[in-house]
Amino acid sequence: MAEADPVSRSREMLAYIDASPSPWHAVAEAAEMLEARGFRRLEEDQPWELGPGGSYYVVRDGSSLIAFTIGNQGLGQSGFRIVGAHTDSPGFRVKPGGAMAKDPLAALGVEIYGAPILATFTDRDLTLAGRVFVRDPSEATGVRPRLVRFDRPLVRLPNLAIHMNREVNREGLKLDHQDQLPLFLTTLSQELPPGQRFRQLLGEALGAEPDDLLSWSLAVADTQPGSLWGPEGEFLADGQLDNLASCHAALTALPREREEGVALAALFDHEEVGSESYKGAAGELLEAVLERIAAGLDRNQEARRAALAGSWLVSADAAHAYHPSWPRHHDDQHRVRVNGGPVIKPNAAQRYATDDAGEAYFARLCESAGVPCQRYVHRNDLPCGSTIGPMLAARLGVRTVDVGSPLWAMHSARESAGTFDHDYLVRALATFFESG
Ligand SMILES: [Zn+2]
Repeated sequence: MAEADPVSRSREMLAYIDASPSPWHAVAEAAEMLEARGFRRLEEDQPWELGPGGSYYVVRDGSSLIAFTIGNQGLGQSGFRIVGAHTDSPGFRVKPGGAMAKDPLAALGVEIYGAPILATFTDRDLTLAGRVFVRDPSEATGVRPRLVRFDRPLVRLPNLAIHMNREVNREGLKLDHQDQLPLFLTTLSQELPPGQRFRQLLGEALGAEPDDLLSWSLAVADTQPGSLWGPEGEFLADGQLDNLASCHAALTALPREREEGVALAALFDHEEVGSESYKGAAGELLEAVLERIAAGLDRNQEARRAALAGSWLVSADAAHAYHPSWPRHHDDQHRVRVNGGPVIKPNAAQRYATDDAGEAYFARLCESAGVPCQRYVHRNDLPCGSTIGPMLAARLGVRTVDVGSPLWAMHSARESAGTFDHDYLVRALATFFESG
């Protein structure tokens, strides 16, 4: 892993997020980083030729990615060192109908994706990014997936003036999920119906005929780039810190060389909607890749089982930082500090996979990395979130620990965190990948 000072490391992470306004962009960007470091791309529908000392990656459906480095001694006794994270963030997805009339405007119909803090998307310079399937007779399937991204502010969710919503500061902003979320796009025109206007816009961005756009997955993204804030730049802010910051940490820490065993980073789409999908963490993607790696290294079923039993999985996802203006929403014994290092997340109910063995294991890793670490426990009187750790642990039978960097305003359009925590996490994960 290249040496970097903590501030540059965080700036690199923000640049990665700003280049990744959708999960498809996050994976394309990750693939580019891996190619530059000499990782070789594998295709799922082709035979894999793997060997000791090799570094590879595979992409499923454009928005989940698994990258790995095989040790010079092959799988050995230590098995797999896996870091899991997710490429998606909560927000909105444009409905298949696209734009519609909302007199006197053309507005985009959107579905809610995951659990965003809806109010934080109001009054921001929003745009669209994602994937479009375009008709293409030169392809065997007749269609080609294309990435699209508008760099300029394109759509907006304006607030209602306080003079018409006098209770907003006492009651909070409440948005009707069906009627008050369509995003303002443009004024209605006599010549071009809104649906066609939107298709024309997309077609122009792709250099394609509007009639050739067959389907899309378009995320609503914020155009404001990431920033450092505070007198010394000790804090940072951006959209999608949950969980592209962990994706970046996993990719940065993933080694190009290892003596024994396999170091692997697994970045999944669909965590924010439950992971139950073709490319989600609850599916068989990671299991299939682990199986193919073991098979590629001539390991039989028995040896593969033994390798899994010796393996560890670190599920890296954002953690809730202590918010001093809301002390009653935190557990007094487990106040997690921003810039206080990676957070281990034990949970007796297994909403997080961390048990006592995992907690001790990761605390020791941080010690040997020279990195501070903290423990987060959710209040008993608040429902706890979850992540990909428990489902991967259950599915694979691999010991798993849930960890993450502290974050304020999780699922806001603009989350904030500590500038030094990213480097702490990268160093802890690098030590994990090196461990035998
Ligand atoms: Zn997350």
